[in-house]
Amino acid sequence: MQIGFIGLGLIGGSIAKAVRRVHPDAKLIAYNRTQEVLNQAIRDGVIDEAAWDITAAFGSCDYIFLCVPVVTMRSFLKQLKGIIGPDTILTDVGSTKGDIHRAVSELGLDACFIGGHPMAGSEKTGYKYASDRLIENAWYILTPGGEVPIDKVSAFSEFVRSLGALPLLLTYEEHDYITAAVSHVPHVVSASLVNMVHDLDGREEYMRTIAAGGFKDITRISSSSPQMWEEICLANADKICTVLESFTRKLTDFRFAIRNGNREKLRLYFTRSRDYRDSFSDEAKGPIRRDFRLYMDITDEAGAIAEVASVLADEHISLKNIGIVHNRDFDKGVLRVEFYEDETLKRAVNVLKQKDYRVYV
Ligand code: NAD
Repeated sequence: MQIGFIGLGLIGGSIAKAVRRVHPDAKLIAYNRTQEVLNQAIRDGVIDEAAWDITAAFGSCDYIFLCVPVVTMRSFLKQLKGIIGPDTILTDVGSTKGDIHRAVSELGLDACFIGGHPMAGSEKTGYKYASDRLIENAWYILTPGGEVPIDKVSAFSEFVRSLGALPLLLTYEEHDYITAAVSHVPHVVSASLVNMVHDLDGREEYMRTIAAGGFKDITRISSSSPQMWEEICLANADKICTVLESFTRKLTDFRFAIRNGNREKLRLYFTRSRDYRDSFSDEAKGPIRRDFRLYMDITDEAGAIAEVASVLADEHISLKNIGIVHNRDFDKGVLRVEFYEDETLKRAVNVLKQKDYRVYV
């Protein structure tokens, strides 16, 4: 098996590392804008060959992963068109799928393109943050071009599964509609909530002061890259606007129920949303990165936080953040402790429970 990578950043590097771990005999070749990354990947034993350009070496690949920013994908497709062999499958990892599928159709590449979107990420980008476990247990959406033979789709789906991800086959239109609802519009709403508080706050900035804690948590996604979200909104404008219309109707329904004192409607809206939300899985990674945090009760005495930190340090569990929650409208527990990964969070919960702390996850 020979696999090519165009772009070896966070996502490309993570997939390459996963391939190297699961399929040690595969031959991996990569192109990246900055050559130092390729040198590092060779030193790490992750890739076998560094390509300094889009060369004929990519022609004999079984799969070529395009892992560059969405806006640059089209130019690489054009270059690859004249190089790839008859059995090569091109795939990408972009967060929106309509634009790349349109480019693929225009270039006549529908028979060899399977769009992909691994729903995994991190706050940090670049090869040095790539991990062979990043896509593990994450939904990995596949959007095959209409002309790709079914056995090639099945084989690629199995390949993705072999890397520990959870393949899910959709059309590219379905992908863009679904991600508009569960990722893109939530980012727009979160930005609007934060901007609303910014605009309504008075000179004393009381809103900003007590926004620490729960409000900060529910708008966490507003700390993402403005440039990336600007691009995603423009790339998926139609689907985002359709979903936003539905959301605006929901807000209007709420406003009417509140204005008219319609207790029954309000109870219904809140109950439906609670029950539906409680049915969501905690197991698989979705399009919005999770927060790995717990809340816990501690006694109000000097040294209580230090004691928690030392219990965790004794078990070699590293913390990302620790702090008192002053506004507990949204949360149980006085202390909020944040970790880098799910596995560390789970270990911390066990350790703290063994020490008889009351922990909420
Ligand atoms: P990254 O910055 O870590 O990696 C991008 C890579 O592309 C780098 O190696 C960079 O050198 C290269 N690159 C950038 N501009 C280029 C250009 N003009 N020409 C050639 N190469 C260029 O970013 P990433 O997070 O790995 O994102 C890559 C792709 O993955 C994007 O299409 C993004 O939509 C998608 N994606 C990202 C996430 C995430 O959370 N980071 C999640 C899912 C999908």
